[in-house]
Amino acid sequence: CGICGVVGHQNATPLIVEALRRLEYRGYDSAGIASLVDGQIARRRAAGKLDNLQAVLDVQPLSGTTAIGHTRWATHGLPNESNAHPHAAGRVAVVHNGIIENYEELRAEMIAAGRVFTSETDTEAVAQLADFYLDQGLTPREAASRTLARLQGAYALAIIFSDHEGLMIGARHGAPLAVGFGEGEMFLGSDSLALAPLARRIAYLDDGDWCVLRPDGVEFFDASNQRVQRPIQTVALIA
Ligand code: GLU
Repeated sequence: CGICGVVGHQNATPLIVEALRRLEYRGYDSAGIASLVDGQIARRRAAGKLDNLQAVLDVQPLSGTTAIGHTRWATHGLPNESNAHPHAAGRVAVVHNGIIENYEELRAEMIAAGRVFTSETDTEAVAQLADFYLDQGLTPREAASRTLARLQGAYALAIIFSDHEGLMIGARHGAPLAVGFGEGEMFLGSDSLALAPLARRIAYLDDGDWCVLRPDGVEFFDASNQRVQRPIQTVALIA
């Protein structure tokens, strides 16, 4: 299973598919990608191999310069298309590796607030919570930070928001996540292998960190929401 994200200036879909291929070695049962098209969340998902996702993309291409991708190893919900990531609720799309241990409580709370779930996953609670906080008037950054504070369990997350091209939020808690630095574009990936063709400079989130990506850089925050710096390593660029 794996995660990748791109905020930049070129069509992100081929970059994401390539990064997901480099994460195939981790094993997965389904795959998907979401991007912002005219500011709106658009998704393509498929059960099974990445070739199945590519076949969907061949028929229904996806453009967009702000995008997230995922290979899933199902823990909650069958490995089918509707449980494949990215999960979306309102103005939020999320990819997640790991397990949200308190998802039943969060799901019940969101259902009580009138929200309708469309998957069986633990992950959808994250998208629903973040969109719920947006509805309350919080900014994407505030909504993400409020959401992260509610989560228990293990997660690497990447989140994008409708009408916020060039913005991505990443978070790491018990599952690895790295940031890749490009020229006018920034990347998220589960490991340096995913990022290898994209970026020579990489910084790992510490456990508990979250980050705000823009095409021109990244801000890191620790678990107590303090702005922090994380060391940038230079790795070999693989063609
Ligand atoms: N727990 C999530 C799910 O079942 C994420 C699984 C993963 O790490 O790929 O959808």
